[in-house]
Amino acid sequence: MPSMMSDKLSRDAVDFIDDGYLQDLADGAQPDAARIREIIAKSLQKEPLSVEETAALLAADDPELCEEIFEAARELKRRVYGNRIVLFAPLYVGSYCINDCLYCSFKRSNPDAMRRTLSDDDLRAQVRALEDRGHKRLILVYGEHPWYDADYIARTVRLVYETTSPPHGEIRRANVNAAPLDHEGYAKVKAAGIGTYQIFHETYHHATYDRVHPPRTRKRDYLWRLDGLSRAFESGCDDVGIGVLFGLYDWKFETLGLVSHALHLQGKYGVGPHTISFPRLQPAHGVDLEEFPHLLGDFDFKRLIAILRLSVPYTGLICTARERAELRREVMAFGVSQIDAGSRIELGGYTEAGDAQQMAKEQFSLGDIRPLDVVVRELLETGYIPSWCTSCYRLGRTGEHFMEFAIPGFIKRFCTPNALTTLLEYLRDYASPETRAAGEKAIAAELEKLEDSPQKRELIDRLNRIRTTDQRDLYF
Ligand code: SAM
Repeated sequence: MPSMMSDKLSRDAVDFIDDGYLQDLADGAQPDAARIREIIAKSLQKEPLSVEETAALLAADDPELCEEIFEAARELKRRVYGNRIVLFAPLYVGSYCINDCLYCSFKRSNPDAMRRTLSDDDLRAQVRALEDRGHKRLILVYGEHPWYDADYIARTVRLVYETTSPPHGEIRRANVNAAPLDHEGYAKVKAAGIGTYQIFHETYHHATYDRVHPPRTRKRDYLWRLDGLSRAFESGCDDVGIGVLFGLYDWKFETLGLVSHALHLQGKYGVGPHTISFPRLQPAHGVDLEEFPHLLGDFDFKRLIAILRLSVPYTGLICTARERAELRREVMAFGVSQIDAGSRIELGGYTEAGDAQQMAKEQFSLGDIRPLDVVVRELLETGYIPSWCTSCYRLGRTGEHFMEFAIPGFIKRFCTPNALTTLLEYLRDYASPETRAAGEKAIAAELEKLEDSPQKRELIDRLNRIRTTDQRDLYF
C-alpha cells in the first residue's frame, strides 16, 4: 500500500527476483569438484561471484567440498578484513507496528506485545547507559507505524547524537533499521547524519512473502520494500544494509536472493550494500515456529555465511546476538565482520531490569546476552581486535568512495590504526582490569606487526595521547 505515502518508486524500478530461475538454481545438482574449485579460486582473487556461481557453491553438499568452502572463506576473511571485528548495539526506539508479520511478536494482532515508544527522556537515558558501557555505534530499531515517519526517525537520530555522557561517552554512528521510506524521507534521515539504512527483505520468495505478510498490511507490498534501498541511493543514502530472515523459506533460494539484490544495487548505482544480515528465526512471543517448515540448522547456517563471504568479498557480514556465543565465535572466523554485544532488545532494557533471554514481551529471544566487556575480552583472547571505528563515514568515505577493501594498503593505513585507537579508548575509559590487560597485550602485538613508518610513529603518538590525556576520537 505505498499509496499511503508517496508511491514513487526508484528510476526504472523492477522486480528483479525471478522465482522460477532462482529455484532452479537452488535445486541444482552438485557440479563436479573441478568447477567448484575454479569458483573458489575466483573468489580468492576477491572477485564477486555471479548468482549462478553462488548457486554452484550452494549445491556443493559433499563434506570435503564444504570444508574447502569453509577454508576458502576463512582465508578470504583474513585477507580482506584481517582480525578486526566491529562492535555495535541495537537500541529499540518504538514497538508500535501496523504490520502483522507471522514471524514477529511486534505484529499488530499480538495482544501481549509490549507497546511502547521511548520518550525523549527515556531515549536519552538509554543512550547514556549504552555510552557508559563503552558503545560508540548503535543501530536504532523502529516498528513500522505512521508515528515513526522520516521526521521522527531524523529527530531521534539527532537526539542520539546530541546525548553525551561526559567525559567520553558519545555515539559516533547511528544506523537505522526501519520501514522503507520514500525519496523525500531518505533525504531527511540522511540530513540527520545516519550511518547505514537497513531494510531486511525477510524472504525473497514471492509466495512465502505473501503468506507471512497478510493482506491489508503495508509490508505486504513486495516491490515497495524490494525497491526501498534503491530509493535510498537516489536520495543520497549510499550506505545501505540488506538482509533475510532465514527460516521463512529455502535457505539456498534466499542466499541467491541476497546475492541478486547486492548485484542489482551494484549494477544500478555502482555500489553494493555495505552490509548483509542473516537473522535466523527465533522463538518469539505470539509466534508459532511450527508454522515454519524451513528452519535451518547450524551447519547450513554456517554454509550460507561462508558462501556469502566468497560471493560478496567486500560486503560486511553481521551476525547478531540472536545466535549463541559458540556459534558466533565460529562464524567470525569465516565471514562475519560485525557483531552486536551487550544487547537488550526490550524497550528501555539498558536501564530497566529484565531478562533478555526470556521472550517475555520483547521481539524475540537472544542467544548471547553477555556484557560488552566479556565479549571484548573474549575477542582479544582469541586473536581479534575489537573496533569501534567510525572514521570512513565521518570523513565521507561511503558509497563509491568507500574503498576500504578495494584500495591496496587501505586497511593498513586506516582500518588497523583506527581499530587500535578506538580499542585503547575503550580500554582506558570502560574496560575491567582483566580486559584492559588483554587489550594492552593485543595492541602491543599489533604494533609489533607494523613495520616502522611515519604512519606507525603517528599511530604510536596518538595512542600515547589517549593514554596520557583526555584527547579522544583521533581518527585517521
Ligand atoms: N522496521 C522493521 C521492519 O521493516 O519491519 C522492523 C524491525 S524488526 C524489529 C528487525 C528485524 O527483526 C526484522 O526485519 C526481522 O528480520 C527480524 N525478526 C522479526 N521477527 C523475528 C524473529 N522471531 N526471530 C528473529 N528475527 C526476527
